[in-house]
Amino acid sequence: MLLSVIVPCFNEEGNIDLFYEETVKALGDLMPQTELIFVNDGSRDATLEKLRALCARARYRVKVVSFSRNFGKEAALLAGLRNSEGDFSVIIDADLQQNPAYIVDMMKILNEHPEYDAVAAYQEERREGFVISAFKKTFYKVIDSMTDVKIMQAASDFRLLRRPVVDAILSLPEKCRFSKGIFAWVGFETYYMPYKVEDRASGTSKWNFWKLMMYAFDGIIAFSNKPLIMSSVVGFFIVMLSILYLVVIVVKTILWGDPVAGFPTLACLILMLSGIQLLGIGILGQYLAKNYTESKGRPVYVVKEKIESTGMGSEQA
Ligand code: UDP
Ligand code: MG
Repeated sequence: MLLSVIVPCFNEEGNIDLFYEETVKALGDLMPQTELIFVNDGSRDATLEKLRALCARARYRVKVVSFSRNFGKEAALLAGLRNSEGDFSVIIDADLQQNPAYIVDMMKILNEHPEYDAVAAYQEERREGFVISAFKKTFYKVIDSMTDVKIMQAASDFRLLRRPVVDAILSLPEKCRFSKGIFAWVGFETYYMPYKVEDRASGTSKWNFWKLMMYAFDGIIAFSNKPLIMSSVVGFFIVMLSILYLVVIVVKTILWGDPVAGFPTLACLILMLSGIQLLGIGILGQYLAKNYTESKGRPVYVVKEKIESTGMGSEQA
């Protein structure tokens, strides 16, 4: 049995050594059958140097895949999965917000329950600001109502997957990758395990409100065509309304000789309609842009360097 631990890293210089130590401690007897795969996602700090040094001294199997620039966490996850050889693969953040000790629990669940193919950890209590938390809730509601895949609220990317699940994920050729949707799309039986998020060991989160917002849009567009249908439906209703309004004006003018209502009505209508049109074009544009990205067929990431430890470093036990 081999376990692959996939760790995306972007500017995590302060966490690499700590993460390694904690993981070795937490996994204990599992370590000899474990490979650690660090994906350096174009870090601009000393992350790569730290990883290099780790590879040189590690007693266990450590692989480093280093990108030519920052391609984003989704790309890093894909690279990690592609380079994993394990019968089990677990995805975990480098910042120790997700305690590696949970990996042991996850393995136990899969070993005891052959009917499950994956374990996804979800946060029992969210420790986020009110705005972000409300925003995330709304996002999951929207995406749930718009897509056919069921994305478990609060479930993170912290997951343990059996090999067939990894192979299924890797068989999807799309370039615009939204992991939460992909995990749900491939199916399989997933066990949801609660976990407690720790504070970041060092460094800062790479997410802000704007990035989350774009991520949410991407997710909806990657997994649903409903926004397109919605803009057509809105357009249809507006046409119906305007016909009705036209009839009202004509009837009023013929019956009562009312003068046609003036400039304010016109200005409001023009503003509203052009706004809706722009919205529709914008939605269309998003799909077109995604299609454009896919059709260019560029790779999701570019690897600059791969480093592998021999697993025979001088590190003390
Ligand atoms: N990460 C990455 N590429 C990025 C952003 C983040 O590989 O462009 C990694 C990061 O190093 C960390 C994980 O993804 O291991 C989660 O990132 P972060 O802690 O910033 O997110 P949060 O925990 O705040 O959701
Ligand atoms: Mg984090």
